[in-house]
Amino acid sequence: MDAAQRYWIRVLLLSNITDCSVQTASYFNVTNLDELPPLETSFSSLEEPIKIKLSAGKLTIAGRTFTSGKLIVYPNEPHIFSLNGIEYRGKLELIINPNGSTFDVINLVPLEPYLAGVIGSEMPDYWEPEALKAQAIAARTYCLYIKNRFGTKRNWDVAKTQANQVYLGVKAESAPVWNAVNDTYGQVLTCRHPDGAEGIFPTYYSSVCGGHTENSKNVFGDSFGPLAGVACPYCKDVAKLTLFFWPMAQFAKSTVTTRLFQKYPQLKQLGEITDILPAEQSNYGTFSRLTKIKLVGSTGKSDFLRAEDLRLSIDPTGRQIQSTICQIEKWDDKWAFLAGRGWGHGVGMCQNGAQGMARHGKTANQILTYYYPGSKVVKIY
Ligand SMILES: [Zn+2]
Repeated sequence: MDAAQRYWIRVLLLSNITDCSVQTASYFNVTNLDELPPLETSFSSLEEPIKIKLSAGKLTIAGRTFTSGKLIVYPNEPHIFSLNGIEYRGKLELIINPNGSTFDVINLVPLEPYLAGVIGSEMPDYWEPEALKAQAIAARTYCLYIKNRFGTKRNWDVAKTQANQVYLGVKAESAPVWNAVNDTYGQVLTCRHPDGAEGIFPTYYSSVCGGHTENSKNVFGDSFGPLAGVACPYCKDVAKLTLFFWPMAQFAKSTVTTRLFQKYPQLKQLGEITDILPAEQSNYGTFSRLTKIKLVGSTGKSDFLRAEDLRLSIDPTGRQIQSTICQIEKWDDKWAFLAGRGWGHGVGMCQNGAQGMARHGKTANQILTYYYPGSKVVKIY
């Protein structure tokens, strides 16, 4: 077995669906994992997409019904399938949910092709090769950490969205992206864990830190030495001015209350939100990042929320309230988010900053040890 094949990743592509369409260039097998030995059914390749449907608790693929709650669709070489029109590499796992009325679709893919689909989605492929390599090592480490920490408790390791790392499949791949993946083959970042052992850690990264990266403890709640936050003079020269300094965003007060209640029903006891106050912030001299917010309601009761949670509850896209380096003020019947800097949660490597460092001739290793101080690059396969 190829060493890298030991590192397969399970990516959640679709969840709680009742049907989808799949197309493959080559013939494919369907393995019924509930049978011993597993039962294989072969399908010839089809020019038209085939329908996969769930009805009466059973999956039907191209008209053939299976009794198993767990199937693997395995296209032959070049091992590419298209799901609802988007191409991915590897295999497809179909798992019926415990309710019996919906199923999840999971991509089983070796780590390196997975990374090729991530790097090209997370960073422009025309950026400096050393920035792309730093991104590849950070993405590889992050993915393996999440897989080890959460994957054992669920049917998948990572989501294909910003909740983990954006993964757009084959269309995100390109020669520069594959070079970055291959040139860093098997390389990850490690640091000393609280128990004294050396190991991988969650190498978070975000688009534009705004001038200083944030301590992970204030955003994700975990504290590893390399995630304490560093000054970043590099992203300002790379990011577009309107990304670095983002324009005022406004949301109706009623919208803010509704969205917060939807995400955090326990806040309903506060009544309509009347005050949004900074409770804790990281001060960086000329600017500061809100990290904890005090919410006061019409009943006079109050509660606290992490600033990053508040931001993404009010603006789930994160494209209007781009970061928590901002001021929050009342503006007639609206809440205004002013004087904003940066884009993203700000923890770990600043992607635009990585590009800035690479432009100054820094290597991938220098970029990584700058943004994750105290860490080192190690080859694990
Ligand atoms: Zn930065």
